[in-house]
Amino acid sequence: MESGDDNMDLTEGVYQHIDSTKEIWKALQDMKLGAGSDRWSIHEDARRVFPKDHRTCLVVMGLNPYHQNPAGLKAALPKAWQLTGRVESQINDDGTVNFYFESEHHILMVLEKAPYTYRGWLVALYRWSNRSYPDFLRNIPFKVKILNLPNMYRRPEIVRSIGSKLGQVREVSIIEPTVNRAAEVSVKIDFDIDDPDIFTKEVEIFTNIPPVELGFRYTGLQKFCIICGSLRHEFEVCKDAALLTRRQMELLDTGTNPYLSAEERSSAIRQYLSIRQEGETSRTATGAQTTEEEATVGIITPVGTGARPNAPMDSTTLAGSSVAPEEQGTKRKAPEAANEENERAPKRLVLNQSELEETQGLVVLHKPPPQP
Ligand SMILES: [Zn+2]
Repeated sequence: MESGDDNMDLTEGVYQHIDSTKEIWKALQDMKLGAGSDRWSIHEDARRVFPKDHRTCLVVMGLNPYHQNPAGLKAALPKAWQLTGRVESQINDDGTVNFYFESEHHILMVLEKAPYTYRGWLVALYRWSNRSYPDFLRNIPFKVKILNLPNMYRRPEIVRSIGSKLGQVREVSIIEPTVNRAAEVSVKIDFDIDDPDIFTKEVEIFTNIPPVELGFRYTGLQKFCIICGSLRHEFEVCKDAALLTRRQMELLDTGTNPYLSAEERSSAIRQYLSIRQEGETSRTATGAQTTEEEATVGIITPVGTGARPNAPMDSTTLAGSSVAPEEQGTKRKAPEAANEENERAPKRLVLNQSELEETQGLVVLHKPPPQP
């Protein structure tokens, strides 16, 4: 009579035998049987559908993949376009999503109202047919309002020159003032997705007169890194966060907390700016030079750093910021947390209505000459 142990051994042996047989025959499928006979061709009707499908196809990429999963983009964007059920989509290996539209008219409508956001972060959106272009999925089409430009400089060439510092200028708009409304100056630009947002900049218009401090406001922009201005990550994971003190990080956390009141948030941001100002003043007092790079960061430069996102760190700027990033008490938001936050926050999948319609007869559009 066999013992239980003997039975088990026997059974295992049989299973091993079956497994290895499966593996052997699976591997044998790698023999290129059939490869030598006539080649196959895709049916003509399938070939005809392919270019037709892709003529009305847009490729979409989330700028912050940590918070923008492709399945979410698939579900959210057709709603934002008001084309639910009228656009098909398919996720690509690189995390981009192809959207197949019913008509060219729908594509034009979608492109006209860009940019769009998903979970607060921007998405880049290009025609599939332009996929070989060097700027494919590299730009966001922003309308940028230029604030504080003195009346006398509201001229197309000056405005275009200012706009060109932000991106490739597509259009210049100067709306004249009326009794009911102030003048408005704006540019439509293609903004490089890796450039930091700039919100304030001192601009020298003529060399012999004092510079003016201009403000820039991006229509359709929602979330960005409030330390370096990047469109591609939140401040908690910014590499420049290492240069901030624990207190500064706490203030930024408070300043972006949707559970708090607007007053509590703005108070925190004021304190943050005040600490930063002190840092800049003390650094100036010690004779540190302001670099060209520092000047380009704008209003949200971290204290005493002036570092652009890719600029090397200056060890002299680390004084007073000895807290290592992992020691800083700020909690890092997980993607799920961001999703939840998005549901709390007002939805801002921005559909920019053309503001030109509101300004009939008063808009001065200055389109650039056609590209060669
Ligand atoms: Zn950053």
